[in-house]
Amino acid sequence: MSLVEVNGDGSLLEGYRAVVGDAPIRALESLARTLRDHRLVMVNSTAVGGGVAEILHRLVPLLRELGVPTTWEVMPGDERFYELTKKLHNALHGHGDALTTTELEHYLTVNRRAAERLQLDGDLVLIHDPQPVALAELRRQSSQKWVWRCHIDLERANPDALDMLVTRVAHYDAAIYSHAAFMPKIAPGYLVPPSIDPLSPKNIVLSDREIDETLAPFELPDSVPWVTQVSRYDRLKDPLGVLQAFRLARRRERAHLILAGGAAGDDPEGAEVTAEVLAAAKGHDDVSVLTLPPDAHRVINALQRRSTIVVQKSLREGFALTVAEALWKRRAVVASAVGGIPLQVLHERTGLLVRSVEGCAGQIVRLLRDPAMRRRLGAAGREHIRDNFLHPREARDYLTLFLALLHGIAAPR
Ligand code: UDP
Repeated sequence: MSLVEVNGDGSLLEGYRAVVGDAPIRALESLARTLRDHRLVMVNSTAVGGGVAEILHRLVPLLRELGVPTTWEVMPGDERFYELTKKLHNALHGHGDALTTTELEHYLTVNRRAAERLQLDGDLVLIHDPQPVALAELRRQSSQKWVWRCHIDLERANPDALDMLVTRVAHYDAAIYSHAAFMPKIAPGYLVPPSIDPLSPKNIVLSDREIDETLAPFELPDSVPWVTQVSRYDRLKDPLGVLQAFRLARRRERAHLILAGGAAGDDPEGAEVTAEVLAAAKGHDDVSVLTLPPDAHRVINALQRRSTIVVQKSLREGFALTVAEALWKRRAVVASAVGGIPLQVLHERTGLLVRSVEGCAGQIVRLLRDPAMRRRLGAAGREHIRDNFLHPREARDYLTLFLALLHGIAAPR
């Protein structure tokens, strides 16, 4: 399909300078100067929905503003392709089976078609996630560098699904992971945790009035504390587990649960999981299930800011941008100790980690009862995100690695 048109509004660099200070931005600018003659191409499988699209919508304009010519291509797919790549995604997260031979054949056919159509003639091609991973073996030219960016948690991957991935990633010069728990030795591996954009509509400061206005259409109760999870309706985000934990917590404290989410363009399971969640929440006045359009960034911002507690009870997780977003807004966070979440939630310091429905319920109750603890965790969480998980840091990590690859020197691991 397509080249995604992305526009930064105003100067991103000046905005970031105001948030993180002058020194990190100068370092980024000087690094970028060395890459001005190199063209970068980003490739993923959806322009909207999910964390990867969220990051690319800002990182691409940032790299351009830095003077590094960068384009973003979205891989075209069909319904069957999205179904089987969702199956592959689940299997790589350790849920369900690997692709059958027929499914793999269709997967490769769609990759072959994309290899013919996409504009992939940059000096460095950065492929995000497993959907387009076969493009390297189909399209790579010897003058190019290809890097695979893994956003998922491979720690408990189905061995057959992992084997299929390993075969494809062997065609890459390097692979980038979000956290170190599991880095298969398939290409030289580097760590680059994802990041959020403090200037985006999802994260900019909102006044109380703006929050009220943004949330008014949803008619949410204002007399009880809100416990909120923002996530695509996906079983690995465990929305039903959140409901169970909330029911347990409600036996001890008053609160209102908000589940807010939508679907990603490449996720065919969304409608089914949404229906399950709506059925489970039916008849409970203290639960609101919101189905949001893909551009509901300001609504999500307002929900996160207004919530007393933000939950992320995922069963598997690459990183969970939603956690970084909540911590950036000084929220008290209760989140599962999976994937990249423990990089962000340092237990008892920037939030609370949990491993079960009961644990989640217990920590929600604890935080509902302790405003001082909520403030302390929220303040430390904000600093932790500012120092480690904003876009300028991710851009710097990428450019460092690209420079090393393009100039033929080994990048520091
Ligand atoms: N998100 C959104 N609308 C939704 C659900 C999620 O805009 O209905 C955003 C969320 O705020 C975050 C991203 O999508 O920025 C999800 O990234 P994350 O890493 O948490 O999970 P993923 O969906 O990539 O597994």
